[in-house]
Amino acid sequence: MTVTRFAPSPTGFLHLGHAFAALMAQRSGTRFLLRIEDLDAARSRPEFTSAIFEDLSWLGLSWETPLLFQSARGAAYGAALEILGARGLTYPCFCTRAEIAAEISRAGDAPPYVAVGGPDGHLYPGTCRHLSEDERAARKDQSFALRLDAARAAELVGPLSFLEHDAEIAVDPLLFGDIVLARKGLPAAYHLAVVVDDAFQGVDLVTRGEDLLPATHVQRLLQALLDLPEPAYAHHRLILDSSGRKFSKRDNAATLAAMRRAGVTPAEVKSLLEL
Ligand code: GLU
Repeated sequence: MTVTRFAPSPTGFLHLGHAFAALMAQRSGTRFLLRIEDLDAARSRPEFTSAIFEDLSWLGLSWETPLLFQSARGAAYGAALEILGARGLTYPCFCTRAEIAAEISRAGDAPPYVAVGGPDGHLYPGTCRHLSEDERAARKDQSFALRLDAARAAELVGPLSFLEHDAEIAVDPLLFGDIVLARKGLPAAYHLAVVVDDAFQGVDLVTRGEDLLPATHVQRLLQALLDLPEPAYAHHRLILDSSGRKFSKRDNAATLAAMRRAGVTPAEVKSLLEL
């Protein structure tokens, strides 16, 4: 039995890329689950969630119930954060984005405005990792993000790997640096929420776009730290628009809802996706 999932964020209408991801997930497993990744309260909207159900049903997909809403999973994420905290692997980070950018540029590493986080951006320089307990206590009323001490975590778990289309890939635990795990108003950031929920839902094959392949490195690290089962991975090609770019949620013409209104059939969508 292979359990797969489709995990959209209800921050816009689904487009062709989502249709491909959902169909690939459903075809790759024997049980197909749906998870609504609605942790970003400012951008998630109920009408987008309803549209997800409509679009997937229109495509002929059905999913098991109960489906999971990440917005209802605060307690599970809190428990995971406690485990990581008790292992001495988290620290509060008081830096604003501007401060992080300034710190990176001071180090002669980048222009003043830089993307932070992820393999294409700059890694968090670790400023707050070195604060003393007194300095932390003095700032306790300030809002902060909770970060993972990735180097310490890597040392603790030792070498890791994951299975990508049956090939073993060595984990680079520092690829994303000291990721944010949670912050005010966000009970879990993406990487933490995904590993906790994949384990909870019993997902044993994660299918998703290849743009998320790098994220697997840090997600595998979190699984090991939290003693969660290790799913296999099968990242798939991305569906690109006519100019070779990924569809964006702002690209209204490519939404499944718009295609449906224009009289496109699910069979035509599948043939467009070469499925
Ligand atoms: N919610 C993510 C997205 O919409 C997908 C997360 C995942 O598949 O791991 O891009």
